[in-house]
Amino acid sequence: MSENNIPYKTYLNENEIPKAWYNLRADMKTKPAPLLNPGTGKPLTAEELTPIFCEELVRQELDNDTAYFPIPQDIVDFYKMYRPSPLVRAYCLEKVLDTPAKIYYKFEGNNTSGSHKLNSAIAQAYYAKQQGLKGVTTETGAGQWGTALSMACAYLGLDCKVFMVKVSYEQKPFRREVMRTYGASVTPSPSAETAVGRKILAEHPGTTGSLGCAISEAVEVATQTPGYRYVLGSVLNQVLLHQSIIGLEAKAAFDKIGVKPDIIIGCAGGGSNLGGLISPFMGEKLRGEADYRIIAVEPASCPSFTRGRFAYDFCDTGMICPLAKMYTLGSGFIPSPNHAGGLRFHGMSTILSQLYHDGLMEARAVEQTSVFEAAELFARSEGILPAPESSHAIRAAIDEAMRCKETGEEKNILFGLTGTGYFDLTAYQKYNDGEMSDYIPTDADLERGFAGLPKVEG
Ligand SMILES: *Cc1c(COP(=O)(O)O)cnc(C)c1O
Repeated sequence: MSENNIPYKTYLNENEIPKAWYNLRADMKTKPAPLLNPGTGKPLTAEELTPIFCEELVRQELDNDTAYFPIPQDIVDFYKMYRPSPLVRAYCLEKVLDTPAKIYYKFEGNNTSGSHKLNSAIAQAYYAKQQGLKGVTTETGAGQWGTALSMACAYLGLDCKVFMVKVSYEQKPFRREVMRTYGASVTPSPSAETAVGRKILAEHPGTTGSLGCAISEAVEVATQTPGYRYVLGSVLNQVLLHQSIIGLEAKAAFDKIGVKPDIIIGCAGGGSNLGGLISPFMGEKLRGEADYRIIAVEPASCPSFTRGRFAYDFCDTGMICPLAKMYTLGSGFIPSPNHAGGLRFHGMSTILSQLYHDGLMEARAVEQTSVFEAAELFARSEGILPAPESSHAIRAAIDEAMRCKETGEEKNILFGLTGTGYFDLTAYQKYNDGEMSDYIPTDADLERGFAGLPKVEG
């Protein structure tokens, strides 16, 4: 297909939805480090994980060798409600930038939850149902993950219990009501429903909660209620596996139009969308079949990759979850309160951490005002109101396209547009009112987080 014949949107048809997820770990020469039991310091076994996660998901979590996991037909059928997602050629953005670069994005915001998180939510809910469980518990901050999970649970007739960080519960009533509409029960965290919640309330009366605390509550309920398990929307190996659907579809669409991306860009919170988007491309890179520049983009206010340590750390602030070896700012790190754009997690997927450590991908940090500038330019040119998280990737894609303008290179740039920003209008309001500022943590700020890293060999 000649360059100017490339359609605005390349859709696969329903039957071209990938039939298997791709497990990037199978092609990694250095495998990601195993999760450790915080009590014993030894790698977690399947037996230790099955009281928390369902059995098939534990199998997926621990399997570093199987390259392809067939996608069950029921999940494929659910995917058909909102997939395949389009690969869009950003002609309008290219025109505004007057760049010779060809910009493409894979748009994952075309479902009610508004993000890619639904790709893993349906898989995790499906395996819980298969195991005969009654329900699942989880935590949610801003609410994208809780919304996605409630949609998946409603479809499968599974009970869904969401602990929502209290400050979000009160300040983001719209997401809360979407979850309730899909039948989920939503509890502001910390709550009096759990031992850990009561303890936190007693020690810090009036606290507005944190993600770490909500995780602790969700895990407690899952492990102490028969027929329930806990599910998590990012970071874990199983989540990256499910999200490989994004990259597999993108690759198939590129093959259809005869294009190969040169640069692949994604925002990175816990790493699930980026890990999913890059997986088949990184697989080719690892096998020596092709080369791609891969760029993770994170907020300058929460710079896990670019300023973090590669070390074992807790995944939660409550320090009850397993230890993961990852780029981390320390589980006690909390981004500055003026940080508006998501991607707040202190750590990073162990898979991406290992790939970054091995020099197979790049990372950069961007400041939030420049992220919202990019979001505004994108909304005005391409029409879609992007999620603040996704706008980190837009920022980097625009910067790369402008570099091409200087050098005259006609690079193919792909970025992941993970979601829409309709529920993030308070952040947009701040930007529009000129009240948004940037905060970059000092080295001393970061040292405080590193001081809390557990002492673990490896
Ligand atoms: C949750 C979320 C992210 C970040 O999570 P990852 O696991 O790093 O992908 C990015 N974009 C949107 C829209 C999200 O909801």
